[in-house]
Formats: sequence, C-alpha cells, structure tokens
Amino acid sequence: MFGHRPVTALVAGAGPVGLFAALSLAQRGQSVRLIDRGVRTNFESYALALHPLSLSLLEGIGLVDEALALGLRVPRVMMEGFDGNPWSVELSASSSRFPFLLILPQGRFEGLLVRALQKEGVEVEWNRSLAGFDQSGDRLHCQIDHLGDQAMGYAVSGMSRMKVGRSRIEASYILGTDGIWSTVRRELGIGWKRTARERAFELYEFPVRESREILARVIRKDHGLMSIWPLPGNRIRMTFEVPVGSDGEIGVEDLRARCLEHEIAMDMPTELSWSSRMEFVPGMAESMGRDRCWLAGDSAHRTLPQGVQSMNGGLVEAALVASRISDAADAHLQAAAFEDYAASRLDEWEFMLGVGAAEVEQDRRGSIPATGRLHQQLMKSWRGGAPGKVAV
Ligand SMILES: Cc1cc2nc3c(=O)[nH]c(=O)nc-3n(C[C@H](O)[C@H](O)[C@H](O)COP(=O)(O)OP(=O)(O)OC[C@H]3O[C@@H](n4cnc5c(N)ncnc54)[C@H](O)[C@@H]3O)c2cc1C
Repeated sequence: MFGHRPVTALVAGAGPVGLFAALSLAQRGQSVRLIDRGVRTNFESYALALHPLSLSLLEGIGLVDEALALGLRVPRVMMEGFDGNPWSVELSASSSRFPFLLILPQGRFEGLLVRALQKEGVEVEWNRSLAGFDQSGDRLHCQIDHLGDQAMGYAVSGMSRMKVGRSRIEASYILGTDGIWSTVRRELGIGWKRTARERAFELYEFPVRESREILARVIRKDHGLMSIWPLPGNRIRMTFEVPVGSDGEIGVEDLRARCLEHEIAMDMPTELSWSSRMEFVPGMAESMGRDRCWLAGDSAHRTLPQGVQSMNGGLVEAALVASRISDAADAHLQAAAFEDYAASRLDEWEFMLGVGAAEVEQDRRGSIPATGRLHQQLMKSWRGGAPGKVAV
C-alpha cells in the first residue's frame, strides 16, 4: 500500500466521508494514504439514511448492490406538526433510479467502504493523527503523530492515548475529512459560523416484534422535535429533543417515559440496543479549504440529525473532490476546480441551513434534491419560520 509512487492525496479522517473519498480516488488510479487518529470504524450507527443521490454515487463505485442488500428501503417520511395536516415527503415519486432512503447504519456502511478500499490495496492507517502541515511549491509536508495506548498508573486505572512517535507524509493534496473539530480547518485558519442555536437530543435504539411496519416520522410538538426511524433487523431508532445541558445515564425507563409524554401509540419497549444523549450546534466553515487543502463532510458543516443530511452532503463532496483532483492535472485547472467546488458547496449549505442569499437562486434553479429541500424546511421551522411543503 505504501508503494513508491508519489502520494496524490493524504485523506485525514476515515469517517464515512474520508473512506468514500479515498475509495473514489483509488478507483481513479490516484495514490492515496488514509489516516485516522481512532482505532477502528464506528460501532454506533449515527447516520442512518442514505439519500437517492448517495445511492447513485455508490452505484458509481460499484457498491450499491451490497448496500441495498444490507439496508432497508423507506419510500416516504411522514411530517407531523409542521404545517397543518400531516404531509409526507414522497421519495417514491422521484425520478431517481433509487426512489427511497436506504436505512443503513453508519457502522455497516463504513465496513462496506473499508472492505472495498482493501480490494484497491488501501488500508486505513489507524492511530495516526495529522498534527500539522506546511507547503513548499506544489507539495504538502504533513506531520503525522503515531498514537498508542498507555496504562495510566496506580491512582487512576485505565488506558489513555499517547503520542508514541511521529512520521511525515508528502502529498500533492490534503483532504480534511477529519470531522467537526477538524485539524485541517484549524491549521488553515478557516473560521466557523454558527447558523442556529444549540439543540440536544436523546437517542434510543431498540428491537421490535417481527413484521411490524414502521413509518419513518419526523414530528414537531411543544416539547420539541422527535423522530422515528425503522432500522434493518426489526429495530427502531427514536430521537427526542430535550433541554440543552441534560445529563446522566438514560435507559429503557426513560424511553418509556418519553413515549408516554409524546403520546406514541405502540407496544412499550422493554430493552435497548443503544442509547445516547447528544448536542448539536448547526454551522458551517467560512470556506471549503484553500489551494491544495480541501474540506469535506463535518469538517465543513454541521447540522441536526433529523434532516439526515450531513453525511450525505459529505459524500457528494467526497465524490466531487475525487473527480476534481483526478481531472485537474495542471495548476491552472486545479485552482479553478477548487473555486468551483468551494462556491457550489457553500451555496448549497447556506441554502440547506437556511442562511444567506443563495436560497432563492438555488430554489429557482431547482438544483437541490428533495432531501435537501426537506432539510431546509426543517431548519426553517427550527429557526421559527413557517415551513412550506416539499414538492418532489
Ligand atoms: C445521532 C446521529 C444521527 C445522524 N444521522 C444522520 C443521517 O441519517 N444522515 C446523515 O447524512 N448524517 C447523519 N448524521 C451525521 C453524520 O453522522 C456525520 O455527518 C458523519 O459522521 C460525518 O462524517 P465525516 O466523515 O465527515 O466525519 P466523522 O464521521 O466525524 O469522521 C471524522 C474522522 O476523522 C478522524 N480525525 C479527527 N481528527 C483527526 C486528525 N487530526 N487526524 C486524523 N484523523 C482525525 C476521527 O477520528 C474520525 O474518525 C447523524 C449524526 C448523529 C450523531
């Protein structure tokens, strides 16, 4: 994997976006290194829905059949409490080859990408953290910290992660897919703008009786937002908005209390497969990178989970970056490719986050898919505006 070819791109961060970008680059014949400061892919399912457009991208890299075999198809999302009577986002009416959301938990999706990368001869280099970089001419010199576990001693038992070494990688490009606290973004000095206030959610996943049809629902009530998603393997995910700053363990009793509070008619859950509390602050980077360092995924934008948008937006970026980097052999083309990438992605995210002047223009051009417009409507309603209905 470390052959002697000069490295075209160092991809920093092996979340779904970095994995997808590295795979797309490798399939285009580019020499790629993919590092991650973690020890493995996600166990938690976090992102669960792949959009029709993401499925088309997966088809482009030869993975759609495997994904379809693992996932669950959801042709419609019911919206309740937003604008008069309940309405639905009908993906089945779309002209896409994949007219549905595919529910595929993030961990499984990442596993799929890791296996495909291995077939291309690329291994994720875990325990490697991008510490910094500098540029000379058209090459970037990247400092990589090697991390390892170290026992913490007598007073506090357990293991802590330590720097155990350092190496360097030279590359023509860096792709910062290193998530919300991106080192690449910070090293470039790119600012972050918050676009809405912080919101907090409790998330529960649990098994249900076989053969029950579960509708995907996003519901707005006085308490805030809640959503229900069917998962493969007869499981459900529910998320409930809770006051920011709530803490403490959450268990099945809390889920039952939430179901009662939200008047959800269903058999009461008796066990949980996963639960978590999380806070989200929607926002976006002021730029998508600079020169030979490009940002994609959560390093460039952050939104709330109900719109099932962040990872999907990141996959579009990963595909664009891979094609632009592969196509732009000379420096002149490369600069134009970056400007084009940055402008279109910032416009789209301003639209989806409901900020900026791009909104009207994007809508007029009809360039935003239904899922993007669904997300924009959600963001508007969270920000206090009345949402309209989403035509597909
Ligand atoms: C509950 C929940 C539900 C969600 N549902 C959806 C959904 O249905 N659809 C959707 O589109 N999105 C959803 N999201 C959002 C989605 O999970 C994220 O958008 C997605 O994980 C972002 O992928 P990423 O690859 O950009 O970043 P991440 O997944 O954050 O990966 C970044 C990686 O970079 C590594 N890293 C960080 N710093 C460094 C460094 N210096 N050097 C090397 N490696 C580094 C990290 O270890 C990490 O592995 C959800 C999120 C949550 C929490």
